Amino acid sequence: MTGFLSESKLVSKKKTTGTKKCGGACKLNKTCLSPQMPVNGEGKCRVLIVAEAPGKEEDRRGVPLIGDAGKLLRKTLNSIGIDLDVDCRKTNACICRPPGNATPEYEEIEACRRFLLKEIKRTKPLIIIPLGSTAIQSVIGLDWTDKLGNIAKWVGWQIPSRRFNAWICPTYHPSYLLRNQDEALRTVFKDHLRKAFAFAREKLCPEWPPNEEKCIERITKKSWIKFEIEAAIENGWAVAFDYETTGLKPDWNKQEIISVSISGGGVQHCAFMLTDEIKPMWRKFLRSPIRKIAANIKFEERWSVAKFGTRVRNWHWDTMQAAHVLNNTPGTTSLAFQSFVRFGIPPYDKHIKPYFEAKGKDGLNKIKEIHPDDLLLYNGMDSLLEYRLAMIQMREFGYPWKGE
Ligand code: URA
Repeated sequence: MTGFLSESKLVSKKKTTGTKKCGGACKLNKTCLSPQMPVNGEGKCRVLIVAEAPGKEEDRRGVPLIGDAGKLLRKTLNSIGIDLDVDCRKTNACICRPPGNATPEYEEIEACRRFLLKEIKRTKPLIIIPLGSTAIQSVIGLDWTDKLGNIAKWVGWQIPSRRFNAWICPTYHPSYLLRNQDEALRTVFKDHLRKAFAFAREKLCPEWPPNEEKCIERITKKSWIKFEIEAAIENGWAVAFDYETTGLKPDWNKQEIISVSISGGGVQHCAFMLTDEIKPMWRKFLRSPIRKIAANIKFEERWSVAKFGTRVRNWHWDTMQAAHVLNNTPGTTSLAFQSFVRFGIPPYDKHIKPYFEAKGKDGLNKIKEIHPDDLLLYNGMDSLLEYRLAMIQMREFGYPWKGE
């Protein structure tokens, strides 16, 4: 409707209407024609598209994604049988137009997120498609609190968001495609959108909501630890294992492995402190023919050689190398990133990360100051997720899974 009004009429209409309060955190509503632009679209497929911020045309008419970028998105979706206005709901990370189409500032994105959260809470989308870095920051910034880094890291994943109970499927902003006339980019964009819509019927996770932390046994009793290591050797299943150490210099005398976790056969998940009494049994594990999995096997290999005088027998899978082979985008191979994009698990090391910094000449960190309960839980999560990630990666490689 507002499209029929001239710009001057629109300005006066908006001025007399006034604006609702935004909490004062962001002043963009003072300078645009359509402050707090409402979400638009029927959303029949329960897909929510989140773009950056209204452009000139959108601001003039009060509707998101109707300018050139919107047209390209509409056309691309049409080519895969989707109607942007009927099947989706559309909004922006910032719902007021920044002057001169400037990229919204971090503070503006954060301040405006509450409108997005309200929309998600109200309409419960199955799929959320953030277009470009601003929208990605808005959609995942509550869970991924580190720097986003390059957008290339994020596009093309289908992230099972635990917060929203929806798949988050980031892709490029269509205006990026307009700036880069590149056929390959258009194909990739279309492919991301096609995959996103295909996920509407996918369950987020077989057991939803999963509770990994509850699965991890933090064992302190010596006999029980021995029993678990013995079981891992006897059962014959592939085992992911992980060390927490006093630093990154395994060959230095003062450096130690403090705790170990194992995850075997998708059912055994435990973590324990590595005491002198446990060491002979652990060495036996390292020498056993059991297939072994780790994230960055070089780390566990070097510590095993330095502290147990043995190489690890029968390495089976390195989740870090596999992640690189499957997708060689820089910044995507860490367990933290993979756990977030594949399982929707936000980084779980925030509270203990500072203790892993080694500042002194001896290269020792402050791991011994971490409460053992916290350390073992963190350590246990690592192995559990390494095992789970290895399983998925093997499937993607087309290897038959013989973990159990
Ligand atoms: N670009 C955006 O990010 N949003 C719109 O609504 C229009 C163009």
